[in-house]
Amino acid sequence: MPRYDEILHGYSEERPLTREEAVVLLQTPDEQLGELIKKAGELRRKYKGNKVSVQLLTNVRSGNCSQDCTYCAQSCRSEADIEKYRSIPDEKLYADNSAVNEKHLARHCIGLSGISFTDGEIAELADRIQKMKKSGTHICCSIGFLTEKQARMLRDAGLDRINHNLNTSRRFYPNICSTHTCEQRIENLRMLKRIGFEICCGGIIGMGESEEDVADMLLDIREISPQSVPINFLLPIKGTLLAEKNPPRLTTEYCIKVLCLARLMLPKADIRCAAGREVYFAGREKTLFGIVDSIFAAGYLTAGGQSIDDTLQLIASLGYEAAVDSTGE
Ligand code: SF4
Repeated sequence: MPRYDEILHGYSEERPLTREEAVVLLQTPDEQLGELIKKAGELRRKYKGNKVSVQLLTNVRSGNCSQDCTYCAQSCRSEADIEKYRSIPDEKLYADNSAVNEKHLARHCIGLSGISFTDGEIAELADRIQKMKKSGTHICCSIGFLTEKQARMLRDAGLDRINHNLNTSRRFYPNICSTHTCEQRIENLRMLKRIGFEICCGGIIGMGESEEDVADMLLDIREISPQSVPINFLLPIKGTLLAEKNPPRLTTEYCIKVLCLARLMLPKADIRCAAGREVYFAGREKTLFGIVDSIFAAGYLTAGGQSIDDTLQLIASLGYEAAVDSTGE
C-alpha cells in the first residue's frame, strides 16, 4: 500500500480514491498534515472560490422520537434536558426564515424529529414551506423516511433539498441504532434523488467508529453524489446514551483529516463542518475555511453555536465571502 504522501502526489479527480487509500490518508501523521490540507485547499478553491455558505437551522419538531439513535438528544431513550414540542410556532419559524433573507444567508434548514409522518403532517409542513418559498429562500428539510407520495407533496410545495445523513458505515450502524438500518436510509435517499431533490447527506464522527468505517461511509456518500456533505463532530449531550457510554476522543487534527478526505472524495460538493465547529476548530478557523465551504450559524438542533453576526464577521475577517443561495425576494 502506498504511503499517504505517495497517494497525494498520485491523486487525480479522474481516479477516485480507493477504500485503502482513504484509510491511509486518515492515518496521516499529525505533524505532516500540510500536504493533505494543501491538496484539499486546491480543490476547495477550484470549485468554491472564496465562498462560504452559511445555513440557519430551525428545529421544527423537537424530541419524542421513537428511534434509539444513541447520539441523539431527541431519541425516546435519551434523558437529555431538551425542549420538546410537536410543532414550532409559526412566528418563530417565519422569523428565522426572514433572518436568512435579511442576513443574506445561503439556506434555511428545517429539521423534524421522528422517523415517519402522516400525510396530514406532511401537508401541514408543505403549507409552511410554500409560504416561506414566497420570499425566495433556498430551503432544505431534514426529515425521517418519507413515502414517495409525501416526498412529492414537499417537492410540489417548492422544497429544494432534503437532508438525510448516513451517519456512519453500514457495518457500524447497529452500534448506534437498532430501530432502523443504514440500508433503509440509503434506499430513502435513492427515492428522493430519483424524484428530483437536491440531496444533503453526511455523517457523524466520534461515536467509536474506526477509520475504515469513516472511509466506508464516505464511499457510500460518494455513490449517492449529494450536493452537500455535512460532517458533524460529536458533541456529547448529557443524557444521551452515547455521551454516557462512550465520550468521544476527537482531536482537531483528526477532524481536519476527515474533512480533507471528504473534500478529496467529493471535490465538487459543498463540504460542511456542521456540529462541533465551535469546539474542535476554535482558533483554527483559517485552516478550516481552507478546506470546507459551508457551515451553520446560530447553533444546531439541540446545541447552541456561534451567532449569525459573529459567524459572518469571522468569514469576512478571514478574507472569505458569504455565498447567497436564497434570493430574499
Ligand atoms: S437522529 Fe433522527 S431518527 Fe434518530 S433519534 Fe434523533 S430524531 Fe430520531
